[in-house]
Amino acid sequence: MSTQMESNVEPGLYPWLRADYIQLVDQLSAGKLHHATLLHGVAGLGKRQLIKRFAQRVTCSQPVANKACGQCKSCLLFQAGSHPDHYFIAPLNDKKQISIDQIRYATSKVNETGLISTVRVISIEQLDLLTESAANALLKALEEPPQGVYFLLASAQLNHVPATIASRCYKLNIKTPNPQRLAAWLTKKTNVAVTPQQLFSFENSPLRNLTAIEEGTYQQIAQVEHCYIELITSLAQRSNQPDVIALATRDLVNQLEIAQDSFGGVEVIRLLQLINQRLIKENVAQGEPSVKPDTLLKLSAGLVTLKEMINKTPSINPLLQLQQLIVELSLK
Ligand SMILES: [Zn+2]
Repeated sequence: MSTQMESNVEPGLYPWLRADYIQLVDQLSAGKLHHATLLHGVAGLGKRQLIKRFAQRVTCSQPVANKACGQCKSCLLFQAGSHPDHYFIAPLNDKKQISIDQIRYATSKVNETGLISTVRVISIEQLDLLTESAANALLKALEEPPQGVYFLLASAQLNHVPATIASRCYKLNIKTPNPQRLAAWLTKKTNVAVTPQQLFSFENSPLRNLTAIEEGTYQQIAQVEHCYIELITSLAQRSNQPDVIALATRDLVNQLEIAQDSFGGVEVIRLLQLINQRLIKENVAQGEPSVKPDTLLKLSAGLVTLKEMINKTPSINPLLQLQQLIVELSLK
């Protein structure tokens, strides 16, 4: 990508979104923009920002190269958040769902003529939170798309988006930035020294890592990781000191109880999975691994089962289950 092209892109757009933004504008300029685009990728990439910037470019009446002009009537209304031809749908604050009423309102309105633009845009974020009836209503609209209407959809959990909907969209995978570059970006933004290794606990997600720095969550993770490694080491040497395992388990559970307040129950298990994944990777890279790989692999399998269990039965206590898992592993 040329420097000149970069400078033509929305200056406020997150740098890792620029190539995707340009790709969409190119499709639009060539008259090849799919009537439904589905952006997917981990949470905290800024998919909403990308959707809003691109929706403004789509509705702008005098675009300048890649950018919306920022001055036409359409742009002014868009920037004020009151563009009559742009419908932005997200889960309502008090509910964790997108309702059929929200979908019906937008899809019936866009059947009328554009109020000030020739095109209309329906944006939906967290597409995985559609109720079943909302999904059916959206599917109907996607099957018979009204002329001049573009759907810009986003989800951090593509596997929870109904396949019937996903298959009717152009899917654009928003990738996480290169860890080195992301670490540099975060350090510049926060004045806090960040290493590429730290980013992994939040799946290399830029905005979730940014929040973690601002809320001091990295220290908590470091504590959890320290206890986790102690536990794995004690599991590997179990024949010598059985009490050590119990002690290490208690320390880990104590740290996880603290982390739970920041992360939530399922998330602490996911955090352990990520730490475990990284340890496996580092172990593979080492000639003489410091931790027995089979312990890590057994824990890895146990954590997957545990997470599935919590997803099925949210009322169970993740930390009690984790203790159970460790006891089973230490007896084997
Ligand atoms: Zn404009």
